Amino acid sequence: MIKRLIFLGPPGAGKGTQAKVLADQWQIPHISTGDILRQATKDKTPLGQKVESFMSGGELVPDDLILDLIRERLQEEDARKGWILDGFPRNVHQAEFLEELLAELHQHADYAISLEAPDDVLVDRLLHRGRNDDAEATVRRRLQVYQEQTAPVKAFYQQHNRLKVVNGDRPPEVVSGAIAQAIA
Ligand code: ADP
Repeated sequence: MIKRLIFLGPPGAGKGTQAKVLADQWQIPHISTGDILRQATKDKTPLGQKVESFMSGGELVPDDLILDLIRERLQEEDARKGWILDGFPRNVHQAEFLEELLAELHQHADYAISLEAPDDVLVDRLLHRGRNDDAEATVRRRLQVYQEQTAPVKAFYQQHNRLKVVNGDRPPEVVSGAIAQAIA
């Protein structure tokens, strides 16, 4: 069966870790917009140069820089077997764009999994991760941006009856089990 999943949830909740586990298990691509943008900044591509200051400030990069990227990525050959989106959609406009794009591609997302944990746990994890957008002020800003722009995306999937909320404040294997159960 074709699997198509969206991971929502605040920074530090473990989306990347869990998305990788499932992508390996199902042999489908793990599409992380954060990873794609970080690679672009590393390679100093035109996109990378445009997004760098937003990322280091903890802000979302402008939608017009990310929408074409997703449109192209979801049309690559490997995405025909399914996909796991991690870090997209990150605001309601992106979620609406994705619905339209998927309709065009005759696809739909099976579930949106919101992986969640209390703020103090998230801050603690992010400060120990040590990525260069993980400085304390940036971390706080990313959590605020999550509350303001990304948390409302949950209601969007709730309305479509496709939201599953999973507690990410547990060991990774326990979380994996809970996700498997939520989407079984
Ligand atoms: P996090 O662990 O903070 O969720 P990500 O790797 O998903 O980290 O994203 C890192 C940064 O990349 C974000 O703070 C944001 O600047 C940018 N970014 C990633 N995905 C998106 C998106 N869909 N829309 C806008 N900006 C994004």
